[in-house]
Amino acid sequence: MASKKIITVFGATGAQGGSVVKAILGDSKLRDSWTVRGITRDVSKPSAKALESQGAETVAVSLLTLSLRTNLRYDIEANLDDASTLKSALKGAYAVFAVTNYWESQSADVEMKQGKAIADAAKEAGVSHFIWSSLPNITELSKGVLTNVKHFDSKAHIETYIREIGIPASFFLPGFYMSNIPGGMMRQLPPNNDWTLGLPIPTSSPVPLLNTVDDTGKFVKGILLNREKTLGARIYGATAYYTLTEIVKEFQEVFPEAGKSAKAVELPHEVYKGALGQAGMPESAQEELLQNMRLLNEFGYYGGAKLDESHSILVDKLTTWKEYAAKAKPFAELK
Ligand code: NAP
Repeated sequence: MASKKIITVFGATGAQGGSVVKAILGDSKLRDSWTVRGITRDVSKPSAKALESQGAETVAVSLLTLSLRTNLRYDIEANLDDASTLKSALKGAYAVFAVTNYWESQSADVEMKQGKAIADAAKEAGVSHFIWSSLPNITELSKGVLTNVKHFDSKAHIETYIREIGIPASFFLPGFYMSNIPGGMMRQLPPNNDWTLGLPIPTSSPVPLLNTVDDTGKFVKGILLNREKTLGARIYGATAYYTLTEIVKEFQEVFPEAGKSAKAVELPHEVYKGALGQAGMPESAQEELLQNMRLLNEFGYYGGAKLDESHSILVDKLTTWKEYAAKAKPFAELK
C-alpha cells in the first residue's frame, strides 16, 4: 500500500482549520490516504484535546498511541510568530492548509508576517500543494474607495507573495460566516424584542454565506481532489448569495411564530459604528467593519464573482442558510 501523504493544518483548533481536519478524517477514502497534522500553540488546551478525541474514535489514549491508531498527529506545537517552529510543522508535508487570525492582533503587519513565514517555510520544505485561506484586495477592487478593510487586503498581499515565490498553491476565499448572524448581527431588539437583522447596507445587498465549521473542509477536500484544476485558482467558499431580506424570510419560514415580526433593517453608518463602539471596539476597527459591510453593497464581497465554478469541485452538499438557522443555538430555543 502506498504511504500516506501528510497535510499540515494551521488553525486546527479553530473554525476553518478544524473543519478541514474534520472533513479529511470524516471521509474514509481520504482518511486512508492522508495523515492530518493539526497545528496549535498549545496541545494541552481543551480544543486541541477535543480534536484528538475526534480522531481517536476509540478511547482517550496517549499521544503516541493516538498517532498510531488514527491518522491525526497532534504532537506538533508551532507558533506563527516564531518562524523557527514552522520547520518541524512542515517536515515531510505534501500539502498545507494555512489560515491566519487577523482579529487576534488586529494588525495587518503581524498577519502578513505570519502568512509569509508559513509560505517561506512551505517553500523550503518543498510542499507540493499549499492551500491559502485568502480574501480579495478591497483597496484594489474598490479602486481606492474602501482602503480600510485591512484583514482582506493583508490576506490578498500574502496571496500575491505566495504566487511570487512560486509555490504550487490554491486559494480558498471563505465567504461571510453564517455564525456572524444568529444572536450577533440578528438579535432581539427593544422596544418589542423583534428579531432584527440590522446592518449599514440596503436589505437587497447580496451576502455570500458560508457555514465555516461544517463546510470549509468540503471546499478544501474538493481542492485536494482537484489539485491540477485548482492550482493557481481562487475558490470562492460560500453556499450562495443571500440578500438580507432573504436571510430574514428564511428565518421566518423556519420559525413562523418568532418570525412574525422579524425584519431586516438598513442602519445609518453612524448608528452601526456607535453600536460597535459601545461593544468596546476601537474607532479603527469600527471603520474597518463599516467598510467591510459597505463592500457587500457597493462592490460585492467577491467583486460580483459567480460561485458555480467553485462549486464544481465539491463532492459534498453545502449547508443552506435555512438548515444552519434551524440549528443555530440562539435561534434553536425558539422551536
Ligand atoms: P478561529 O476559529 O478564531 O481560530 C484561530 C486559529 O488560529 C486557532 O486554531 C489558533 O490556534 C490559530 N492561531 C492564531 N494565532 C496563531 C499563532 N500565532 N500561531 C499558530 N496558530 C495560531 O479563526 P477562524 O475563524 O478559523 O479564522 C480566522 C480568520 O478568518 C480571520 O483572519 C478572519 O479575517 C477570517 N475570515 C472571517 C470571516 C467572518 O465572516 N468572520 C470571513 C472570512 C474570513 P491556537 O489558539 O490553538 O494556537
